[in-house]
Amino acid sequence: MTTTLINTAAHSAGYTDKLLLPHWAEIVKITPEAEGVTTFQLKFTDPEIQNRYRFEPGQFNMLYVPGYGEAAISMSSDLETANGLLVHTIRHVGNVTRATSRLKIGDAVGIRGPFGTSWPLEAIKGMDVVIACGGIGLPPLRGAIYRIIRDREKYGKITLLYGARTPKDLMYPTEYETWQKADINMQVTVDRGDENWTGRVGVVPMWFYHFRVDPHRTAVLTCGPEIMMRFVIYEALARRIPSEHIYISLERNMKCGQGACGHCQQGPYFICKDGPVFPFSALENIFNVEEY
Ligand SMILES: Cc1cc2nc3c(=O)[nH]c(=O)nc-3n(C[C@H](O)[C@H](O)[C@H](O)COP(=O)(O)OP(=O)(O)OC[C@H]3O[C@@H](n4cnc5c(N)ncnc54)[C@H](O)[C@@H]3O)c2cc1C
Repeated sequence: MTTTLINTAAHSAGYTDKLLLPHWAEIVKITPEAEGVTTFQLKFTDPEIQNRYRFEPGQFNMLYVPGYGEAAISMSSDLETANGLLVHTIRHVGNVTRATSRLKIGDAVGIRGPFGTSWPLEAIKGMDVVIACGGIGLPPLRGAIYRIIRDREKYGKITLLYGARTPKDLMYPTEYETWQKADINMQVTVDRGDENWTGRVGVVPMWFYHFRVDPHRTAVLTCGPEIMMRFVIYEALARRIPSEHIYISLERNMKCGQGACGHCQQGPYFICKDGPVFPFSALENIFNVEEY
């Protein structure tokens, strides 16, 4: 399997000349997902853009709220599952994302993208896959989950480890049954249960103690808080899964989305352009460097 960074990026969408110009998209559906988290379904107002817009799971858009600015937001579905609509799940944490919490159906936002690298879904065909994610780290993997389900027979065992702070913070709970029926071994854990919670309490990386992996045929895809990813990587490496089979999605403060402004530079990489999805083998020397 190659460790080359995969960037299918906006160039595949056929409008490289307009990467700094947002295209307007109208909100067609809003779903409250969890406390402080909302899913938006969007349709480009220009039918030509709507028809040609394509992306790969793991990529992101720069989403622009007029009067507030832009934030990097991952695609949280694939187009097939979402009937051609663009889906973004957003946690309302700061200036732009809090502004999205006040948006209504029919409002327009600007979209630039798609940007960045994607999950290596072709390269890992034939392998067992461990998907390990926490909190808002599930949305960037959800499109990959649906893509894997669609091609289910082309993958080995799929294990999905997902953790949230509390049961109320779990995202897309109504979809878990579908994922399990598609022969995904789904393990959910929370940091703190409530009076109705009968599932596991604990952190995502501890799940590696509950099942065996064949290190030579296992790929790991991980996204979530950096501390969680650090321990997922640690557990995966401890089981001798090669670092080039461990893929992580990095989050850094970014502005242009195309490697021009330098905001998201880490070591030799621009996270927006060379990432956000990296094989850990490419990051071994720089993963512990803090963002300034
Ligand atoms: C590739 C990529 C994909 C992302 N996908 C999603 C997604 O699908 N859904 C989602 O809700 N969020 C996602 N994010 C995170 C989102 O872009 C940030 O939370 C963004 O800065 C929010 O903008 P804001 O103006 O609301 O917050 P700001 O006002 O800019 O900042 C809020 C706080 O978060 C800090 N911060 C800002 N950006 C980052 C960052 N990237 N990493 C760490 N800390 C940061 C700031 O220092 C500040 O403390 C993604 C980020 C990246 C880089």
